[in-house]
Amino acid sequence: MNYELDKQHQELRDKFRAVATTTVAEHARKHDAAASVPIEMIEALHQNGLMNICVPRELGGNGSSFVTGHDPLSFLIGIEEIARVDMGAAHVFQVHGHSCMMLDHACTPEQKKRYLGLVVEKGTPISWTGSEPGRTARGQYNLQSDAIKKDGGYLLNGIKNYGTNASAATWNIVALSSDQGEIPDNFLLVMIPADANGFEVDASWWDPTGMRSAVSPKLTLKDVFVPDEDVLVGPGYYPRERLGARWHLGFGASHLGAAQGMFDFVIDYVPNKRKTGDDPHTQRAVGEMRMRLAAARDMLYHAGSLWAGDDTAKAEEYSLMAKLYCIMTAEWMVSETIRVVGSTALLKSFDLERAIRDIHVHSTHANLYGTAQLIGRAALGMEFDATQQQIVVENKSSKVA
Ligand SMILES: Cc1cc2nc3c(=O)[nH]c(=O)nc-3n(C[C@H](O)[C@H](O)[C@H](O)COP(=O)(O)OP(=O)(O)OC[C@H]3O[C@@H](n4cnc5c(N)ncnc54)[C@H](O)[C@@H]3O)c2cc1C
Repeated sequence: MNYELDKQHQELRDKFRAVATTTVAEHARKHDAAASVPIEMIEALHQNGLMNICVPRELGGNGSSFVTGHDPLSFLIGIEEIARVDMGAAHVFQVHGHSCMMLDHACTPEQKKRYLGLVVEKGTPISWTGSEPGRTARGQYNLQSDAIKKDGGYLLNGIKNYGTNASAATWNIVALSSDQGEIPDNFLLVMIPADANGFEVDASWWDPTGMRSAVSPKLTLKDVFVPDEDVLVGPGYYPRERLGARWHLGFGASHLGAAQGMFDFVIDYVPNKRKTGDDPHTQRAVGEMRMRLAAARDMLYHAGSLWAGDDTAKAEEYSLMAKLYCIMTAEWMVSETIRVVGSTALLKSFDLERAIRDIHVHSTHANLYGTAQLIGRAALGMEFDATQQQIVVENKSSKVA
């Protein structure tokens, strides 16, 4: 068992760090103010071969994946390094990476070339929209956007929201309820090109208090026709494969990165600017921050490594725990940091207030109570479904595969 990053991962971390501390840092305030896509980061990642970190190896990528189990760590390191500087930008990279992993699993060789070829060639990000208005109450497989089977494809209608990357993507993964089967067996994923007839992407919908550079538009589908060749496997594929359980760690990595970014600020600001490094309370707080960040990182990397093995239930449970601990660490860092740095550090001329807004918004994305409940069910020896983000009631749970 090795608890340290090997040379290959250290080099990769340094590559991501270089892009984050130069390009991402330089443009972060601009994209936060305008709620715009961090396009310079996408270009810089592409130039350094990092936009294809989750593209399968046969297409020239690194193949980092929680789905195949190949080298999950590389992707986590990338998210963490970007989130250390800009959590919104890290989500752009995260959604793109998750999309690449899923496409690697779902696509025929011809589809892979069509959708992922553009990533390798131009670094074009991919979007993935499951969310739609009111989904939280209904459950994530209970969608109102529908896909009606026609000759040669599906006719799509509905409204989706929170489509991170949709305003910059050429290909968009979109989830709908098909007219074939009951929930969740009718859950369908399709690929929609940006210029499809009847497909509208409204980026002006995205005006949140934090995570503003993770531009996540509203999508309107009016009689959009998707041919069979752009359907991912078919109805029921996604819940059947329990793929939703594979995305927890990305959220863990982004919260860990944002928390680490706050720590970077503290250990510079407190001794050098506020000049309170001699204060015993400050020293105690910094020590506790250091400890919690190290514990969160160890949990995250351990959970990531479990996807390379064959104990899926354990990988699911540890991923839930690592995500929850990283998010709780980030939230704890917000309240503790404020006490240690004082009010002047919260002026807009520092980047700390942006990190706090980002953590507030992003931590709502992953339902903490729902995550803790699933871990509790696992510990109590009950069935749990790590693909759910919502609180699970008895009749909605399912067996671990
Ligand atoms: C930074 C960020 C990035 C995200 N990126 C993605 C992404 O890339 N892909 C993705 O799929 N999801 C993404 N999400 C969305 C996330 O997965 C959740 O779907 C979302 O956070 C749920 O919001 P909510 O709990 O407010 O629920 P919702 O249930 O969506 O919102 C509740 C609101 O909807 C209204 N409402 C209820 N029913 C209806 C109805 N029938 N019609 C209209 N309005 C109704 C209610 O009045 C209430 O105001 C992202 C979220 C965040 C914060």
